[in-house]
Amino acid sequence: MPLRETEALVLRTYRLGEADKIVSLFTRRMGRLRAVASGASRPKSRYGSALEPMSYIRLWIFERENRDLLRINSAEIIESFFDMQKDYRQQVATQYVAEAAELFLPEREVNERAFRLILVVLRALKRTGEATRPLLYFNYWLLRLGGVLPDLESCGNCGRALGDEAGYYGEGSEQLLCANCRRAAPYQVRATTRGLERDFRGLSLDAWISAGPAAPECKELRRFLEEVVESHIGKKLVTRSLLAGDT
Ligand SMILES: [Zn+2]
Repeated sequence: MPLRETEALVLRTYRLGEADKIVSLFTRRMGRLRAVASGASRPKSRYGSALEPMSYIRLWIFERENRDLLRINSAEIIESFFDMQKDYRQQVATQYVAEAAELFLPEREVNERAFRLILVVLRALKRTGEATRPLLYFNYWLLRLGGVLPDLESCGNCGRALGDEAGYYGEGSEQLLCANCRRAAPYQVRATTRGLERDFRGLSLDAWISAGPAAPECKELRRFLEEVVESHIGKKLVTRSLLAGDT
């Protein structure tokens, strides 16, 4: 059984029997996968806090052919995002990142840019306590790296440029529609909101946050991109409803 070393982010854990845990991980060198951590539910587990949700860890893992579940040999923490989750808003924002990543990223597909994206987003959440721009940036780049970011400048049905007009969407939308094509799409993304993309697409998240307070339109764009993420996943994100009242 070859033993492999990789960095990873812990997305979530599930109990397995009395003493063990199944750990859902996004690893740097092996992509997203699930692995068993023997004894991880015991009070004095040898993993310590390394398997807490969204811990950034180094782990050694046994790879066995023809088995879905791998086995964790050992893990050590590189950077913890545990303390910041004592704040409810940060906890929910962190859980949103974990839930969306787990459902959106394909299994066993190495994605270095997505790995770095999640780290950048977690660090910004931890450093600033702001959820709006880190989550907007996360949704935007998750969709863009996945090749499914909708065109924000033209109608997804007729192709007409939206210009100064609002774009519209409804539940399950993966595109914005113009006023002629919108039919029953009840939500709008105004032109000024779509213009936000020009503000941040060439910036690092840190540079964008350092440039000043979040524009009020950020929430409107984030909601649309959350809808698109959900549409591609094909199910509702539990954490999205918890974020709804958030700034
Ligand atoms: Zn149209």
